[in-house]
Amino acid sequence: MPLTHPSSGHHSRRRHTSVNPIFTREPVGIPKDQFPADQLDADTAYQVVHDELMLDGNARLNLATFVSTWMEPQAQVLMAECFDKNMIDKDEYPATAELERRCVSMLAHLWHAPPAAAATGCSTTGSSEACMLAGLALKRQWQARQTGSGGRPNIVMGANVQVCWDKFANYWDVEPRLVPMDGDRLHLTAEEAVKYCDENTIGVVAILGSTFDGSYEPVADICAALDDLQENTGWNIPVHVDGASGAMIAPFCDPELEWDFRLDRVASINTSGHKYGLVYPGVGWVVWRDAAALPDNLVFRVNYLGGEMPTFALNFSRPGAQVAAQYYNFIRLGFDGYRRVQQTCRDVATRLAASIGELGPFELITHGDQLPVFAFTLRSDVTRYSVFDVSAALREDGWLVPAYTFPENREDLAALRVVVRNGFSHDLADRFLEDVARALARLEKQSSPARGDEAASFDHGGTRANTA
Ligand SMILES: *Cc1c(COP(=O)(O)O)cnc(C)c1O
Repeated sequence: MPLTHPSSGHHSRRRHTSVNPIFTREPVGIPKDQFPADQLDADTAYQVVHDELMLDGNARLNLATFVSTWMEPQAQVLMAECFDKNMIDKDEYPATAELERRCVSMLAHLWHAPPAAAATGCSTTGSSEACMLAGLALKRQWQARQTGSGGRPNIVMGANVQVCWDKFANYWDVEPRLVPMDGDRLHLTAEEAVKYCDENTIGVVAILGSTFDGSYEPVADICAALDDLQENTGWNIPVHVDGASGAMIAPFCDPELEWDFRLDRVASINTSGHKYGLVYPGVGWVVWRDAAALPDNLVFRVNYLGGEMPTFALNFSRPGAQVAAQYYNFIRLGFDGYRRVQQTCRDVATRLAASIGELGPFELITHGDQLPVFAFTLRSDVTRYSVFDVSAALREDGWLVPAYTFPENREDLAALRVVVRNGFSHDLADRFLEDVARALARLEKQSSPARGDEAASFDHGGTRANTA
């Protein structure tokens, strides 16, 4: 008998997960936190893990995440075919490497990189790694233009940045200059950005769009203000656009909006292939304007498994499947297919936002007309329940809708946010709206006193936790 029976084991019962995987067998006990001494047969192990995972939420009802929860079966087949390919082994898997190169080139073109420039960029595990690489390039570029004053480098961004930028600043010893929100200003503006810049500013991060409310930051205005600043001071401060979501929305839905390499000051752009790039996690992309924007001394030439390959990455080994899946989506959907998918998301988001606004108790912060994402709060005269109660009530119907407070200076603002992704149809949106209305009716009936202050004492795991 290879397994420890729960009643005979000398470990405490609580340290065992007692399972009866093939339902007619004797129950078996498997230590939860230590290596089991012996093996299980594959069917039993599969059933154990499968059953544990049943307790995860239903990904399609998760309105919190930006990350893809649906791909076509053909893409899944391709991914399964590539599970054994390591992205770093470009010499062994030159075809996978070629698909990565094509994706970088397609994105550089989509984002209007100068046509004469060689497309410069790479895939990553996600936007977080992409932002680290872009930030490092900004830091190196700043070091190269240093004339000896030797100040500490800083990076200017809105307090609404995703946590990866706090990490970047922390890990690479750059002072984060977070421009606080103020009143109705819930993201970075040009006027505020330049106030925080000086000769040691390695760059300004503009977000397309904000994870807090889905709004686009005014990239063109920020660039123009930095042009003026350069005229007055001589400081030439580049802009990085964090387009984790929006860099795969704006090109298709807002082709007139100038936020990308059409603006001379934009040095680099990142996106998450696994958000509106429509690929399962995890893949991200970072593209520089041209080869000159990526300091050569950051690029390693690895001579490891045959051939010499340039690489700029934090990881070494990395799955190749996501890159193949990204290329699949690019050629499967084409420009018009992406436009249709993203426009549908936006149509669902704007219609659902408007309907939520009409329910009565809610006030919209954004309307879903930039990212297909909107945030809403409770009107100030609603005191019987909080947004956290609404979030909890919706969970009873299986919907995951995060409630969170805004960052410093607007911590008083507690909101709910809905992210509309490919696969969240008008039909599902209607079902969701019905469930919201029913949840409100339940909450209205509860006779508990005002809970206005409760938000402040809630442990939400920090305001940034909601932004995956
Ligand atoms: C999601 C997100 C990130 C982090 O991206 P990952 O792909 O999850 O690593 C960074 N910035 C913004 C604006 C985001 O929305």
